[in-house]
Amino acid sequence: MTSAADQPTPPIRTDVLIVGAGPVGLFAAFEAGVLGLTCEIVDGLDKVGGQCIELYPDKPIYDIPAIPSCTARELVERLMAQCKPFNVPIHLEQRVESVEQRADGRWTVRTERGLAFDVAAILLAAGNGAFVPQKLALAEAVPLESRHVHYSVPRLADFADKHVVVAGGGDSALDWVLALRKVARHVTLVHRRNGFSAADSSVELMRRAVEAGEMDFVIGAIAGLTVEDDALKAITLRGLDGETQLEAEHLVALYGLVADLGPIAQWGLSIHGGRIDVDTSNYESSRPGIFAAGDIANYPNKQKLILSGFHEASLALRKAYSYAYPEKKRMHVHSSYDAKLAEKLGAVG
Ligand SMILES: Cc1cc2nc3c(=O)[nH]c(=O)nc-3n(C[C@H](O)[C@H](O)[C@H](O)COP(=O)(O)OP(=O)(O)OC[C@H]3O[C@@H](n4cnc5c(N)ncnc54)[C@H](O)[C@@H]3O)c2cc1C
Repeated sequence: MTSAADQPTPPIRTDVLIVGAGPVGLFAAFEAGVLGLTCEIVDGLDKVGGQCIELYPDKPIYDIPAIPSCTARELVERLMAQCKPFNVPIHLEQRVESVEQRADGRWTVRTERGLAFDVAAILLAAGNGAFVPQKLALAEAVPLESRHVHYSVPRLADFADKHVVVAGGGDSALDWVLALRKVARHVTLVHRRNGFSAADSSVELMRRAVEAGEMDFVIGAIAGLTVEDDALKAITLRGLDGETQLEAEHLVALYGLVADLGPIAQWGLSIHGGRIDVDTSNYESSRPGIFAAGDIANYPNKQKLILSGFHEASLALRKAYSYAYPEKKRMHVHSSYDAKLAEKLGAVG
């Protein structure tokens, strides 16, 4: 797996670009290998697994064929093991931005961090879109973004000796507040209730840190920001007893992630309800050569289930083959009857 590279690089040539390393994108990588297609995967997140890892890693899943029960995390690990024999490059922290069809019919796809791909077909397995942080609904927060208002913590050292307020009640908020209390001058956790959706052990650590005077915890909602000389000075909190002011130089709001179709919505595809219309005979979109599978695909009676996405990706890639190798006729062969493939897959495990 590669991580974000900010250098513009020459386009990477491959048969199919898979957008999304969720369960459907990972299975698609395996299926592409079985069909004899080369592919690469991009994902905007810093890890593979899509919703399974981002939203419910420890929840059991009971409706994957031949796996009576596994956690979402285990499913992703199995999918990674399944596609491993094909050594598919996975580019993380690379949100896909633009697409352009060239005169020869191939596509150039670019990511926001400068990667480019030269491909015969694109499979969008992008779920509900790229995950982006849920932001504060306060106009005065916008000009302070990245300087005084943050939606992630890129470098702890940037908060050394500062007054920091962390807002949120999930794992990220608890993990970061515990880390920040060691470097900041003062750190306060703000959450709208005295209950958390974070790991019990982190909540326990936070409560002990409050008791020890290492940090504060305040119940309330952020109602406004006081800005002076283009810098954050204080936060207005609305709580049960009305409004109070909290001194702050930095606000780290960790309200979780929301999915956003983002730039893909500008690709000229037919879209309904934020999802891409497809032909169910091959899961091709309204632009021939661009396919959609998994939660992002739209067709009558679509079910947002992992197993539906597996089927959709499999049919999409069969049609994608005709774009990558127009001169070849792909014969249907069961994977176990293909000696070379069987040898390769024998390496799984
Ligand atoms: C709480 C919960 C429980 C569920 N339980 C089950 C269950 O038990 N069984 C079941 O079958 N289904 C279940 N589902 C549904 C299942 O998780 C989805 O159907 C499945 O994740 C869809 O997979 P996907 O690969 O299509 O999309 P996702 O899992 O959403 O993955 C899409 C990936 O694409 C990436 N991406 C999006 N846009 C871009 C872009 N522009 N550039 C780069 N990357 C991008 C995203 O970062 C993400 O990683 C559940 C869903 C939820 C929320």
